[in-house]
Amino acid sequence: MIDFNKPFLTGKETEYIKQAVESGKISGDGIFTKRCHQFFEEKFGFKKALLTTSCTDALEMAAILIDIQPGDEVIMPAYTFVSTANAFVLRGANIVFADSNAKNPNIDADKIEALITPKTKAIVPVHYAGIACDMDKIMFLADQYNLFVVEDAAQAIDSYYKGKSLGSIGHLAAFSFHETKNLISGEGGMLAINDERFIARAEIIREKGTNRSQFFRGEVDKYGWVDVGSSFLPSEIISAFLYAQIENLDIIQQKRIAIWNRYYHNLKDIIPQKGIDLPYLPDYGTNNAHMFYLICQNLEQRTGLIKYLKDNGVLSVFHYLSLESSHFYSSKHDGRILTNSNKYTNCLVRLPMFFELTESQVDYICNLIKKHLQD
Ligand SMILES: *Cc1c(COP(=O)(O)O)cnc(C)c1O
Repeated sequence: MIDFNKPFLTGKETEYIKQAVESGKISGDGIFTKRCHQFFEEKFGFKKALLTTSCTDALEMAAILIDIQPGDEVIMPAYTFVSTANAFVLRGANIVFADSNAKNPNIDADKIEALITPKTKAIVPVHYAGIACDMDKIMFLADQYNLFVVEDAAQAIDSYYKGKSLGSIGHLAAFSFHETKNLISGEGGMLAINDERFIARAEIIREKGTNRSQFFRGEVDKYGWVDVGSSFLPSEIISAFLYAQIENLDIIQQKRIAIWNRYYHNLKDIIPQKGIDLPYLPDYGTNNAHMFYLICQNLEQRTGLIKYLKDNGVLSVFHYLSLESSHFYSSKHDGRILTNSNKYTNCLVRLPMFFELTESQVDYICNLIKKHLQD
């Protein structure tokens, strides 16, 4: 059986965890957390990086930081993970779901302006599959209407838009190190801060509403409760694991991109003839090979393909159920039909993608797909 995902271990994870444990400091913000912060700030140009226990937590921090109040509106794609919306709903926001592009699941930047009202507070673009949204258009609108941009960059580590790293463009950005992502720590995440005004308060919110970080830097002589907050910081055990991954970022990315390219080249001549679309990469963005997906013509074709692959030992999976028609949100949605988002709900299928997937396994999967489509 070829699994859909297999977490990749670099080999150093347990060694670094051992070091963290033996150092006697296993709560948060120790040496490994600091090394991770420094790496991400230097490599990707974030003004500040703060590890969190998940991307979900980083999104929740972002919602607190931009001061979302009940009744505020937040614009985001409907084709995304629940956490993108939930983080803002927790603070009372109304989510205004935008449709995806016709060519890829990212938010259609040309459809955003019509959704802006006096209540709109933020736009949350999601870089689906690690492929950039059209950030110039989104930042222009944010500027014009005085809105915040929070990038959901959960899938977008080490991917770029016109040379800028994803997560470094919006006011804030959230990353995930869940075991299904390119860099992993089991569960884990990061808030990237690009607008300096948020840095001091972010440290406080992440430390239960206390100014503990300032205290340990010697900036204040006692620490106490100064704001709202929660416990958003990971332990050193998680950061130690993540640091082992970080050291191998280039190797991980190169391997994933090689697998992605092999899929693409194997399928590019056959698939389009059968009405199936390959991933579309706009020329303003790079590919971090987070995911390899196909877009079938309809639900029946996708169901047939998933079943055929499964019968032949390959696990492929569909992805999001467009959030505007979810059990929780459908009664709150304004009724607009999101045609493209619904197309991806029914037609998108993800193929196995992980570091240890071999060339011959990729070829095997591609041959199965070709065979199935020719039958
Ligand atoms: C994985 C993912 C998340 C959630 O990440 P966690 O670290 O599991 O909280 C949020 N948004 C998107 C787009 C994701 O892919």
